[in-house]
Amino acid sequence: MSVWEARKIRLVMELRQQGITDTQVLGAIERVPREEFIPPQFQDKSYDNVALPIGNGQTISQPYIVALMTQALHLDKSHKVLEIGTGSGYQTAILARLCRRVYSIERIPELLEGAETLLHRLRVRNYTATSGDGTKGWKAQAPFARIIVTAASAAAMPPQALVDQLDNGGIMICPVTREDRTQHLIKITRIMDQIFYEDLCPVRFVPLLPDVEPASNLQLLRAAG
Ligand code: SAH
Repeated sequence: MSVWEARKIRLVMELRQQGITDTQVLGAIERVPREEFIPPQFQDKSYDNVALPIGNGQTISQPYIVALMTQALHLDKSHKVLEIGTGSGYQTAILARLCRRVYSIERIPELLEGAETLLHRLRVRNYTATSGDGTKGWKAQAPFARIIVTAASAAAMPPQALVDQLDNGGIMICPVTREDRTQHLIKITRIMDQIFYEDLCPVRFVPLLPDVEPASNLQLLRAAG
C-alpha cells in the first residue's frame, strides 16, 4: 500500500466522523488523487483535512468542505453542473465522477491551464472549462441542474445571473458574505419561481471577484514595447 493510500483511508474515516455519509461522495474522494493537485512543496499534506495554496493567491479547499458541498448537491448521472472557480481542478474531478458533465469557469487563465493539463492526464473527459467571469454564469449552456461556487460572493446572495441559470428543481451551493462580514455556505433550491435558502455552516473562502484577471504588468509592458 502506498503512503498516500494509508493517509487517504485516514482522511475518509475522518470525513465520515464529520458527517459525510454519502458513499458516492466518499468513493470519489478515495478515487481522485488529491496529491496531483497540490504544489510539490505542500504535497506531504495532500490528505490532511486542510486547505492548501495552489498559486496565484488561491487555495484548494479543505477536503471536508469539498465533501460537504458535493454531498449537499445530491448529484446524479443525469445532471449538468456549473462550477465557478476551477482553481486546481480538484473539485471538478470530484464532480465529474458523479454527474453527466461539468461546466467550469475560472477567472485566472494560468490556473485554468494547469487544471486542464492535469484533468487531461487523469483522463477526466466529461467536463468543459473556460476562462472568464463566473459571476455571469454560462448562458449558452443554461439551465443547470446544479451550481457550485467555490469562491465567496461579496454579498449575502449569490450573483443573480447564477440564480437565473438554475433549473427548476435545481440546487446551488455558494459561500456568501453577510453584513457582519462573516462567510456562510448556503444552499439554494429553486422550485418554479420560488427560491428556498438554507444556511449550512460558517466557512472561509477566497473572494469571488468580478471580471477576468488582467494580464500582468510585465505582459502589458511587453505588449506596449
Ligand atoms: N474549486 C477549486 C478551488 C479554487 S479557489 C479547487 O478545487 O481547487 C476559488 C477559485 O475561484 C480561484 O481559482 C479563483 O481564481 C476563482 N474565482 C474567483 N472569482 C471568480 C469569478 N468571478 N469567476 C471565475 N472564477 C473565479
